[in-house]
Amino acid sequence: MPQLGFGVWQVPDDEAERAVATALEAGYRSIDTAAIYGNEVGTGKGLASSGLAREDLFVTTKLWNAEQGYDSTLRAFDESLEKLGLDYVDLYLIHWPMPDRGTYVDTYKAFEKLYADGRAKSIGVSNFHPEYLEKLLDATSVVPVLNQVELHPHLQQSALREFHAEHGIATEAWSPLGQGKGLLEVPAVVAIARKHDRTPAQVVLRWHLQLGNVVIPKSVTPSRIKENIDVLGFTLDDEDIAAITALDEGRRLGSDPATVND
Ligand code: NAD
Repeated sequence: MPQLGFGVWQVPDDEAERAVATALEAGYRSIDTAAIYGNEVGTGKGLASSGLAREDLFVTTKLWNAEQGYDSTLRAFDESLEKLGLDYVDLYLIHWPMPDRGTYVDTYKAFEKLYADGRAKSIGVSNFHPEYLEKLLDATSVVPVLNQVELHPHLQQSALREFHAEHGIATEAWSPLGQGKGLLEVPAVVAIARKHDRTPAQVVLRWHLQLGNVVIPKSVTPSRIKENIDVLGFTLDDEDIAAITALDEGRRLGSDPATVND
């Protein structure tokens, strides 16, 4: 899976085709959508219009909360595939665990069937705390390939990343740029950007890559889409990494997964 991909949350369906096409032209090969984003149709059109071979694309979608459960998952997966116009996805994720509902294990068993049938080439989860991952690892046999969680310099998730590393689960960062809200103006980030003649967004993405995270920044602005993938030509040094590590505040922009139950 490419370490850097393109996310399409909050991109309306009728804009998704153009955004995905722009991203693919810029060199992205991994696209992250979800049933709840309501843009699987537009995303699929963008993939198709690119003319790229299916095997050169990496497509992720996610099962929405309302569909958790064994049979409903299988039905929801069929719908997602149909909307995307694909006959398999590269990665299928449980969007939120909804711990109080207690359905994520059954849901994941349906994921294992989709994996065994080759219709989801890999399976994983999103927004899982270690205790939910532990329960899943105990009750099922396919280790989730990754856990997609909120992660950015203000919420570095070091304990969770350590848990992932111990269990061979990759860490994927959602809202890697902190949704562009404030993080990109933080003086330490701006100073590192100046030092390397790069932008703050490039510095933050570079930090993720050097940490080993998979990242899926989102933008609908063509210049930013290009800027966000142009992060291979420089390296942050130890001093830069330490300055960004010091920004951790354990501050979430989104919900604590323990509180999301519908
Ligand atoms: P992000 O951190 O990628 O920030 C995106 C915003 O940052 C943009 O809307 C724009 O305002 C700004 N931005 C982007 N590039 C910029 C640049 N180069 N310079 C300045 N500003 C820039 O936030 P996100 O969209 O929340 O997260 C990325 C992806 O993660 C989503 O699109 C989605 O695919 C995924 N996601 C998943 C979950 C989940 O529950 N699994 C939740 C949220 C997001």
